[in-house]
Amino acid sequence: MYSYYNDNTILYINGEYTKANTATTDLFGQSLHYGYAVFEGIRAYKTANGEVKIFKAKEHFDRLQRSCELIHIPYKFDNEALIAACYKVLEMNNMEEAYIRPLVFCPPNMTLKAASESNILICAWEWGAYLGEKLLRVMTSSYERPNPKAFKIESKSAGLYVNSILASQEAKEKGYDEALLLDMNGYVAEGPGANIFFEKDGKIYTPPAGNILPGITRATVIELCQELNIPLEEKLFTIAELKEAECAFFCGTAAEVIGLDSLDGQSFGKPWAQSLGKVLQQAYKARVLEKSFQREAQLA
Ligand code: PMP
Repeated sequence: MYSYYNDNTILYINGEYTKANTATTDLFGQSLHYGYAVFEGIRAYKTANGEVKIFKAKEHFDRLQRSCELIHIPYKFDNEALIAACYKVLEMNNMEEAYIRPLVFCPPNMTLKAASESNILICAWEWGAYLGEKLLRVMTSSYERPNPKAFKIESKSAGLYVNSILASQEAKEKGYDEALLLDMNGYVAEGPGANIFFEKDGKIYTPPAGNILPGITRATVIELCQELNIPLEEKLFTIAELKEAECAFFCGTAAEVIGLDSLDGQSFGKPWAQSLGKVLQQAYKARVLEKSFQREAQLA
């Protein structure tokens, strides 16, 4: 079992810095019982000039706030102060490259009423690429992503992640590395913790917002396509269309950009090394490390 903290780990909770192994929470909390909580996943990198920088910190905390608002969890925090707290947590734990996890959770309440108060925790741990570095063997999940008419799916809410756990678990049980889930209309939606892209005839495609969590990494990949003059279209597509792709990749804060080896045992049209996916993977790495990136140099 991976150890997320040790005797010296410090975390931030409601304005205080405290030891992880003595911090406590109430077992009657509404979040623990009903999954009524919201979280973020953020990465800090040691950039090319040696500084520790949290990638898109503002975007992540803005989403944390919006996620809370969407499901009526009070958010009385100041995002600039929370970003400063993230840097302090990194410093107090002597961390440079780390994964940062803010979690907004609610006090004891066994009713199904919206919370009137909330708490904030920020912890961090060292985490390599979440889905590993190797190309992924992916299966089409038998689970669908939650129906947007049943939930605020753009809220990164804790309870939603039971769906992700079920899909990932099913994929692993069947000998795959990861799952790919469809939306309620049968179109490709996303992975359990990452967005999906594919390449076909020199163009990149990804599902539009609506039935997915529109990721911050996804937005970065879209920006990179614009900067690198790679045509990109957001559109709905089916598994059959995806299977005709030349390459496909997942992207997310924890996973970064990671290529797919195959989908349901069928490989893609191009070797990963020659794909636009690989160009975008390298461009993403350069972006988070604040290094310059030239597409021509990569293709040469
Ligand atoms: N979809 C889901 C379901 C996720 O859990 C994540 C990870 N937060 C993503 C997409 C990617 O989002 P981001 O790039 O903001 O990490």
